[in-house]
Amino acid sequence: MASKSPSASAAAARARLSTADLRLQRWLRYQRVRRATLALSVLWVLGLPLWHLARDLFESAGLAAGSRWAVLAALSARPPNPPLLGAPWTVSLFGLELLDPTAFVSLLAARAVDWHVVLGALPLLVLVPFLGRFFCGWLCPYLPVLAASNGLRALLARAGLRLPDLKLPRWTQYAVLAGLLSATAVAQTQLIPLVYPPSLIAREAYRAVFQGSLGGGAVFILGAFLFDTFGSRAGFCRSLCPGGATFALLSVRSPVKVRREPAACTDCTLCDVVCNLGQQPMTDKLDMGCERCGKCVSVCPTDALRIEIGKPVTLAPEAVTPGAAR
Ligand code: SF4
Ligand code: SF4
Repeated sequence: MASKSPSASAAAARARLSTADLRLQRWLRYQRVRRATLALSVLWVLGLPLWHLARDLFESAGLAAGSRWAVLAALSARPPNPPLLGAPWTVSLFGLELLDPTAFVSLLAARAVDWHVVLGALPLLVLVPFLGRFFCGWLCPYLPVLAASNGLRALLARAGLRLPDLKLPRWTQYAVLAGLLSATAVAQTQLIPLVYPPSLIAREAYRAVFQGSLGGGAVFILGAFLFDTFGSRAGFCRSLCPGGATFALLSVRSPVKVRREPAACTDCTLCDVVCNLGQQPMTDKLDMGCERCGKCVSVCPTDALRIEIGKPVTLAPEAVTPGAAR
C-alpha cells in the first residue's frame, strides 16, 4: 500500500484511541532494555541521596542525623563510595566526569567554560549527534511523571472527560531554549537548571532526604504534570523542555532513524497515536524530536517500522501482508 495521508476513518480511529489502549508487542527486547535503563536511571536519581545519607551517618552525624530517613539509612552496613556521583546534569561515573550537553550550552552562555567542562561534555557531544535525542526516552527521570500523566489522561478519557491536547508549534521549545540562554548571558547566572526536570528532580530528591521538605522544583514538576495532563499530552517534553530542544538540535544529522516500509503499512495510525512527541511515523513525518523510544515500532501490527542506522527498511516479501497481524 502506498504512503498516503490518513483517511477520515483513520483520523477518527486515532481520535478514539489513547496510549493506554495500545500494547507494545514487538521489539520487546528493545523495550525491555530501554525500560531497564530508565529504571536504573530513576533508581539512581532517587536512591543516591539515601546512599549519601547513609555514608554521612557513618562519617559524622551532622545534618544526616536529623533526617527523617536517618533510621532507614542507619539500617544499611557502611556503604562504599558510590560509583556514580551527581545528578543527570553533571555525573561522575567511576571517576569519569560527564556533562549533559544542556549543561554545556548553559555554561557557555554564562561564560563559565574551561577545559574541564569541554572534556566533560565531549563524550555526549559526540554520542548525541549519532544516537539522536535518546536521553529523553531512555534516561530522563521525568518519564515516570509523564507516564502517570498519560495514565490519568486515559482514565479520564474512559470516564468520558474530553481533555484538550494543545499542540504548540515545534519552534516553541527552541524559542524557550534561546530565551533562557539569552537571559543566562545577560544575568551571568544559569537559569536552565531552574526549569529542567532532570536537574530539578535530582535536587528535590536531596532536599527531601536531607531536609524533609520539597521546594520550588517540586512545584514546577507538579505544574508540568498538570500541563501534560490537562492541557497538552506530553506537552512539556514536546514543546517546552530546554533539554529536549538541545538534544533535538544536536540530533539533526543523526543516522539512527525510524524507517517505514510503505508496502507493509496499513495506515492504522497506531504508531502516530503511541508517540509522545508528536512524530508521525505513519506519514514519514519524523524530525529531530524523535527520542528513539521505539514504541511506534513495537506497536506496529505489520512490522512496517524499524529503527535503523542509515539504510532503508527492507522486508521479505512474505512479511508484506497488510492487516494480517491485526
Ligand atoms: S502502526 Fe505500522 S501499519 Fe499502522 S500506520 Fe504505523 S507503520 Fe503503518
Ligand atoms: S517516532 Fe517512534 S521512536 Fe520516535 S519518539 Fe515517536 S514513538 Fe518514539
